[in-house]
Amino acid sequence: MKVKVAILGCSGRMGRNLIQAALEHESVELIGGSVRDSSPFANFDLGELAGIGAIGQKTSTELDNLLDADVFIDFTSIETTLENIKWCQSHNKALVIGTTGFSDEQVNEIKSAGRDIPVILAPNTSVGVNLMFKLLEITSKAIGDYTDIEIFEAHHRFKKDAPSGTAVKMGQVIADTLGRDLNKVAVYGREGITEERSRETIGFATVRAGDIVGEHTAYFADLGERLEITHKASSRMTFALGAMRAAFWLSEADNGYYDMQDVLGLK
Ligand code: NAD
Repeated sequence: MKVKVAILGCSGRMGRNLIQAALEHESVELIGGSVRDSSPFANFDLGELAGIGAIGQKTSTELDNLLDADVFIDFTSIETTLENIKWCQSHNKALVIGTTGFSDEQVNEIKSAGRDIPVILAPNTSVGVNLMFKLLEITSKAIGDYTDIEIFEAHHRFKKDAPSGTAVKMGQVIADTLGRDLNKVAVYGREGITEERSRETIGFATVRAGDIVGEHTAYFADLGERLEITHKASSRMTFALGAMRAAFWLSEADNGYYDMQDVLGLK
């Protein structure tokens, strides 16, 4: 049985890859995709958007035109995703959220939507990144309490939020494993003359440049040695195919709030 999906924000960088991934995935049927009211890509062929030639399916500016889909995949913006959640709740549709940058309060809003619909919040849908989260948990347990922990991330010049959702999630996994409160121990960038580093802090450093798809490293550094755990994405298709995997998994899930660790059976 194929799962019927719709892609919200289908003319974006991720949206175009998601169209291609949906068309390539044997367990997925693409129902359609949404663009903004004012978009130059309104009523535009989805295949043309993905750069694979016309497929005879057009974009839509109204979610109501996508009611045949069972699972909605949203890679848009924070404001749009928060509106889309409400629409999915009122139409009883499952939702995979790839959008990043939500505040704690907004994450709680998404969590509570899990009472009405199946919802996945996945700031990074790549399988490799989610395996990295597991490795961070293991490493934090083994050496996290005596090493200095820093997180580095790099992305393309167009990315709007910083640090990346993935970097924040890396920090969250490490902090949770070590029993620390990330809001208290996170240090976002350093400048000028500062105190010496205190052991429990988790530092974040960000680079925005060119066309970098996404790179993340966690450092666990002691005097005399350091361990670095790195993930590098070289194509957005890795995120798009992971999102299809999430959509397929979610189509069979009960109402609830999930993440990619659930999808990949890593819990
Ligand atoms: P983008 O700006 O290229 O695409 C976003 C698209 O959403 C745009 O085309 C925009 O017009 C569209 N959009 C906004 N409001 C809309 C509305 N009301 N209706 C329809 N379309 C609307 O950005 P991007 O690089 O594709 O990233 C999108 C989001 O996904 C960002 O939050 C980014 O951080 C995140 N992201 C997540 C992953 C992951 O693995 N989860 C990977 C890459 C990017």
